[in-house]
Amino acid sequence: MTPGRMMHFPLTLTHLLERARTYFPRGEIVSREPGGALHRETWKDVYERAGKLAHALERLGVKPGDRVATLAWNHHRHLEAYFAVPMMGAVVHTLNLRLHPKELAYIARHAEDSVVLVDRSLLPLLDQFVSDVPSIRHVVVIPDDGPTPQGKLDYEQLIAPERPDYAWPTLDEHSAATICYTSGTTGNPKGVVYSHRSSVLHALTACMVDSMGASEHDVLMPVVPMFHANAWGWPHTAACVGAKLVFPGPKLDPESLLDLMAREKVTSTAGVPTIWLGILAMLDANPKKWDLSRLRQMVVGGSAAPPSMMEGFQKRHGITVTHAWGMTETNPLGTIARVKRELETGTEEERMAVRASQGYAVPFVETRHTSDDGKILPWDAETMGELEVRGPWVASSYLGEEGKDRWTKDGWFKTGDVVTIDAHGYVRICDRSKDVIKSGGEWISSVALENALMSHPAVLEAAVFAGRHAKWDERPIAAIVLKKGMTVTEADLTKHLEGKFAKFWMPDAYVLTEQIPRTSTGKFLKTKLRELYGEMLIKPAKPEK
Ligand code: ADP
Repeated sequence: MTPGRMMHFPLTLTHLLERARTYFPRGEIVSREPGGALHRETWKDVYERAGKLAHALERLGVKPGDRVATLAWNHHRHLEAYFAVPMMGAVVHTLNLRLHPKELAYIARHAEDSVVLVDRSLLPLLDQFVSDVPSIRHVVVIPDDGPTPQGKLDYEQLIAPERPDYAWPTLDEHSAATICYTSGTTGNPKGVVYSHRSSVLHALTACMVDSMGASEHDVLMPVVPMFHANAWGWPHTAACVGAKLVFPGPKLDPESLLDLMAREKVTSTAGVPTIWLGILAMLDANPKKWDLSRLRQMVVGGSAAPPSMMEGFQKRHGITVTHAWGMTETNPLGTIARVKRELETGTEEERMAVRASQGYAVPFVETRHTSDDGKILPWDAETMGELEVRGPWVASSYLGEEGKDRWTKDGWFKTGDVVTIDAHGYVRICDRSKDVIKSGGEWISSVALENALMSHPAVLEAAVFAGRHAKWDERPIAAIVLKKGMTVTEADLTKHLEGKFAKFWMPDAYVLTEQIPRTSTGKFLKTKLRELYGEMLIKPAKPEK
């Protein structure tokens, strides 16, 4: 090998924040506080306050490699920790505030967190598990909704006496920067450890025009929580280009989000479909109330974006939804649904079908799908198999070496998603393997049925899940939430589906409900639906708790 003669320059988060401070010192970070007030600071402030925080954490005994947990909403102080902790060589561990205290205790113990930065508004949650985590030496309270209680360490008081200039160490780009746990819908949650290098490469890719296309001219609002796969890397991406960042804090209802988007002239925002379904309903009811003319895209991922929702935003409100796929294990960006030039000449319907797919892989992520016996399947748009991915920001193992069966012998990560891939490389998710409905040995895609049901004008949300069946093992049941003031009959829904699917795909039953249970990351919780209604085709449903 003839060696190249380029510098060894480590890819670390330190460079991203230093760049934001140097070139975009006045770039704004806007955070909505629990009371509704807006807090403003700049990239220069973030850099300086990160320096103060690093000094303060050092004073508390935090050493390189130590885990500093956060239990916090999306806001500026969380952003400061996002950079300060990894830049000083420690590891920031984002705890999911929607989990049960028992799960949080397990996760914090497993990660061996030594310090927790917690929003004052979330102290009651922390109090329920902190004593079960012996590794926690200090609790620092972020005074988000009022003064820190007597006797507790206060974030602002802690950093106030410190100097803003910290001698950030030169780090190995492969060193750990962040830890985030998977939601653990099957088995215990697993720790995914991102490196500086993986987060930097992910941020750079997110800036590409055919990816998220983030630029300094953008106003980025990650609605996706900072505890969900690094808020999809948006804080890192924003620092990379010096974009303005807007954080919604705990106010995630459609009206508050729309107010913030209009007021701060948000250009690009990201979250799971359940958030945008609520926003679409609010916009439909009040089409003229908010000026969203600056909004260039809503990135939707985490679960399938219903095409009817994408169309609704586009046709009724002129808002473009960009559909992307990813996982905690992939930092998360894996694929994004951009329409390739060769497909642009198609009809509007054909283009929408492409945009509603999960898209094709971004640079450095590779995709393939395989059969149960590990055979690599053809990209023919029909053959279903498990999606496997690899790339520099795809996990190579979990913390503690758990879940080794998620990697193939030749080094690919098994996603657990059942997909088809077409000749152009577009991936289409039919289901998560644990949600697939197997009727008489045939697979039925719950995602396809949900998308079709959500295109019915009376339906706000639909989740299709497997009900146990005496003859066919499993049959589809659809849980439906109606739009306000709407009614519908089972016959209407069946008629709406007829002709779109084979007869045996038709749901055997419909359950009208007020709200579909959600996971801790805002997705439909099908295990709960199965628990509540999964036996109804055999015996009557249990009453809803
Ligand atoms: P959780 O386990 O909390 O759902 P993740 O965010 O890591 O945590 O979930 C990743 C999974 O979410 C993927 O494996 C896939 O099943 C689903 N997912 C993500 N994006 C999409 C998408 N655009 N369409 C359909 N499913 C998606």
